[in-house]
Amino acid sequence: PPPGTPDIEIARSVQPQSILLLAQQHFGLAADSLIPFGHYKAKLNMDNYTLPDPSHYGKLVLVTAVSPTPAGEGKTTTSVGLNDGLNQLGIRSSVCLREPSLGPCFGMKGGAAGGGRSQVIPMEDINLHFNGDFHAITSAHNLLASILDNHIHWGSESGLDPRRVTWRRVLDLNDRSLRHTITGLGGPAHGTPRETGFDITVASELMAILCLADGLADLRDRLSRIIVGRRRDGSPVTVGDIGAEGAMTILLKDALQPNLVQSLEHNPVFIHGGPFANIAHGCNSVMATRAALGLNDVVVTEAGFGADLGAEKFIDIKCRQTGLQPDAVVLVCTVRALKMHGGVAKSQLGNPDVQAVRAGAENLARHIRNLRQFGLSPVVSINRFPTDSEEELAAVQAISAEWGARAVVSSHWADGSAGATDLAQAVQDQLNDGTPECQFLYRDEDSLSDKIHTIATRLYDAAGVEFSTEARRQIEEYEQLGFGHLPVCIAKTQYSFSADPKQLGAPSGHTLPVREVRLAAGAGFVVVVCGDVMTMPGLPRHPAALDMGLNEKGQVFGLV
Ligand code: ADP
Ligand code: MG
Repeated sequence: PPPGTPDIEIARSVQPQSILLLAQQHFGLAADSLIPFGHYKAKLNMDNYTLPDPSHYGKLVLVTAVSPTPAGEGKTTTSVGLNDGLNQLGIRSSVCLREPSLGPCFGMKGGAAGGGRSQVIPMEDINLHFNGDFHAITSAHNLLASILDNHIHWGSESGLDPRRVTWRRVLDLNDRSLRHTITGLGGPAHGTPRETGFDITVASELMAILCLADGLADLRDRLSRIIVGRRRDGSPVTVGDIGAEGAMTILLKDALQPNLVQSLEHNPVFIHGGPFANIAHGCNSVMATRAALGLNDVVVTEAGFGADLGAEKFIDIKCRQTGLQPDAVVLVCTVRALKMHGGVAKSQLGNPDVQAVRAGAENLARHIRNLRQFGLSPVVSINRFPTDSEEELAAVQAISAEWGARAVVSSHWADGSAGATDLAQAVQDQLNDGTPECQFLYRDEDSLSDKIHTIATRLYDAAGVEFSTEARRQIEEYEQLGFGHLPVCIAKTQYSFSADPKQLGAPSGHTLPVREVRLAAGAGFVVVVCGDVMTMPGLPRHPAALDMGLNEKGQVFGLV
């Protein structure tokens, strides 16, 4: 396709391969190891496929990025391109990604299955309804909500105080009108009136649980630990107290099985689970990562946002809870993003400006330094855009070299695997150099406030942390309840190392304001809210949905 062809048309120009054939060719899996959803999508059949023993795992490559800007960095696109590049080099590799949510598809961001010549197909199906996982999570979440309201209606035997229910409802759409609602209106026959609201499905604790559980038993145990509200004396009521975990597990059992699809170049792609990267950890499922590690020599995976949030949570939450660890890290950056970090306005990004690239590279340098604190030395991948000049690309390579990192220009977006072989080779060289000693940033036994302080000062270069009175009280309570050993999940703007989205580059000496601390006892982390977090997005003035439809052939248009 010529330059400027929309992603969806590039995606549609490639005929996918039979997914059963692909699984057989790449992994030697028999047809009964898969549950096909049509011809091109499948789930791994976990009845016939038990999770492999870690001693047979391939190497894990984490793809992360500089602090995001509206210019777009391309982590997903790079992950898909790198996997195609590795396969091109003859390495048995797969990529593990998160599932897209309908909210952003119809809102502003568009789909999330890569871009250009580095995409996953069938693109429409992945972006819409994909194998029913989000519907299952939505149903299980709302089943619990209905059980809770019914429990209150019949007298709240557990002592759950209707005014202190924290479990809300979810919907996989952007709908700001549902953020705050009152349910149970209409008199005694219609339940107990109470104030509540809706979040988007990807913000559900069930999404984080599905992505961290390592099997059905762990899933059920985590569900039973969820705290749904409080009694009058303030003590927590759990799902286990109500007895809803069995029914919820039934609704989630199929969704727990990883989904297999393919790239435009017919290489295997696992897309499974999609938790928020702010109030949750922002990584695909442990089930998919483990299954892929058992089937491949190399597995590429993406973490949400920049490395200060995504990579930190990947290591301090996902790896800590599962024993996984990355063997190499790719740090994605773009010339455009560095120019924005260097003070250039979005409208001026097309003009070459080596000075601005150098200034903005402070952000890149900070992320390189940060990753070293985890014991990891990143390969920098410069995701090439058509507007990048040779001088600008050379400047990023020179600065990376100053920080001791190899930087590779990658043109997978324009050229597919042919544009990613240098990157793939650099990653392979890194893997051949030996296994890094990956370390967590803090210890389980550190207090919750020490954990937050460590992240703020060591990764964000903050001078300190300021806790609200409420946050201090919550931390004390969670520690008393025995949750002080949990890792922390920082919910902060992804645009800056500080809590102020306007402070680009590499700010230091700022104060991290902690407003509120929430306990996600089922997911197994404590969410630290620094600034506004949106758990139910709204649609923009002109949502992408208004430009979508089906053409005369019945094909989707307008999905970007
Ligand atoms: P992330 O995973 O970091 O959010 P994506 O990989 O989803 O980013 O890319 C965001 C958008 O930018 C996509 O629409 C993609 O097509 C576009 N994009 C990514 N890389 C390039 C590139 N090199 N040139 C042009 N557009 C790109
Ligand atoms: Mg992405």
